[in-house]
Amino acid sequence: MEKSFNKIMHGYQQFRKKYAQGDQSIMEYLSDYGQQPQVMVIACCDSRVDPALILQCDPGDLFVVRNVANIVPPFEQDDMHHGTSAALEFGIRFLKVKHLVLLGHSQCGGIQTLLEGKHSIKNDFISNWVSIVDEQADNKMNADDYAKLAVKKSYENCLTFPWIEEKLQQNELAIHQWYFDIKTGRIFAYSENKNEYVEL
Ligand SMILES: [Zn+2]
Repeated sequence: MEKSFNKIMHGYQQFRKKYAQGDQSIMEYLSDYGQQPQVMVIACCDSRVDPALILQCDPGDLFVVRNVANIVPPFEQDDMHHGTSAALEFGIRFLKVKHLVLLGHSQCGGIQTLLEGKHSIKNDFISNWVSIVDEQADNKMNADDYAKLAVKKSYENCLTFPWIEEKLQQNELAIHQWYFDIKTGRIFAYSENKNEYVEL
């Protein structure tokens, strides 16, 4: 436990040196001029799937939401607390990002919970949350296939947001369906023409 805490303390020092010191401080620049990310990513909380690390980005590059199983919920106008929808609204309507990446991944614990259904460990929030992407799947589908199906469902949910639909119509936004394979570190992107995932 000490070892991993020491690691983050060391990491913090390196971050300060690289991004927040001297005349060329990226953080100072971003503070003075504000953030203008062009890319928004919806990623899973999974510790192995950090978009900024996988895509080797700097501060200011990515506007990121991470939630269990990288889910976009449908557009719902009620008094509930829609954290992911609020982030989408901020990124797309106010920061005006040009690209929205839905980043699914292999070995997803959230998807696993969904597939285990009633047999899964009792929880307060996870099962209800992942039920958003509960889809009819054929029996041969494994959790990784299902993760791709869930990305498709999230994509369809994106289209229920009127301001996302509008941006797509006006060619001001592109939505990318991606799948990250943890073991090989490869990303595959869904190709509409081929109706399959192809490596980036
Ligand atoms: Zn996951």
